[in-house]
Amino acid sequence: MRRASTLARVVCSAGAMLLTSAAFSAEPPHSADISKRNLTPQDFPRWQRIAPDVYAYEGLHSPDKQGVIVNTVSLIVATGDGVVVVDGQGDVPQTRLMIENIRKLTPEPIKYVVIASDHTDHVGGNSAFKEAYPNVVFIGSPASQKRLAKDPNPPTMLVSEQRSLRLGAIQIEILNLGRAHTGGDLVAWLPESNVLFLGEVFLRDVFPAMRSAYPTEWLATLRKAATMNASYYIPGHGFIDEAPIMRRELDEARLALASVIDEAERLHAAGHKCESAANCPALEHANWGEYHDWALRSSQAPIAVWRVYQELEGKLPES
Ligand SMILES: [Zn+2]
Repeated sequence: MRRASTLARVVCSAGAMLLTSAAFSAEPPHSADISKRNLTPQDFPRWQRIAPDVYAYEGLHSPDKQGVIVNTVSLIVATGDGVVVVDGQGDVPQTRLMIENIRKLTPEPIKYVVIASDHTDHVGGNSAFKEAYPNVVFIGSPASQKRLAKDPNPPTMLVSEQRSLRLGAIQIEILNLGRAHTGGDLVAWLPESNVLFLGEVFLRDVFPAMRSAYPTEWLATLRKAATMNASYYIPGHGFIDEAPIMRRELDEARLALASVIDEAERLHAAGHKCESAANCPALEHANWGEYHDWALRSSQAPIAVWRVYQELEGKLPES
């Protein structure tokens, strides 16, 4: 019963989403926390059409220790000759639900699943794709293949730099713009609609999450994404408003990352210690300014400081 009512809500909210976004277009809250938009888990999943045959689908990330919940975004492209999904959801039930919703949209099978982020919150449900479509092909970077070697569904089609997929009327460019949040980061660009799905390269209004990040390379990757002048930038977490807002928010994410790196560098230069995320006295001296209130700050700030220290000290893993 619960599942049936959730599905009904998704179908209803598909049309209503753009209105919801418009209501926030003046000054959207600077937080990916779903409660800051008066949403509850029952409002998910939801999706919106962002170009002809292209949809951004929002499932839910599990709550952090403070109970803050953000969304997890998947891109769905119905090409006319099969569906391409870029980034799945974090568990099998949510991914099954996404597949059920895709089936309401189109009878086409899911042919490809692109692993833009190899983190569990984006690949944890991937066996549901295989269960529904045994011939589905998983695409990912060599780094993601390595990291998912023990996963039941590692990528088998690899993208080191760039790969074009043309299905039906739609071309999809899978690109490596540089290392960012996972180290195996890929993005998907749709040249016809000029939509750029950045996955976890773009965390909108989420405190920079750096568990496996390459901090200064991530900055360079975000700069590169901005120079592509996409008409619509889609994040891996965070809300999706109208295109001009998303362009501005991409800059905001880059400024936030630069600011967090600067602050961690300042702490390092001042001699404050950070041995690990769990043992990081430097944090007591940190000033995050306007980013203090960004979603997941309390869990992500110690990780960010530690990871920047690792980079400064030449201790980041090669891959
Ligand atoms: Zn994630």
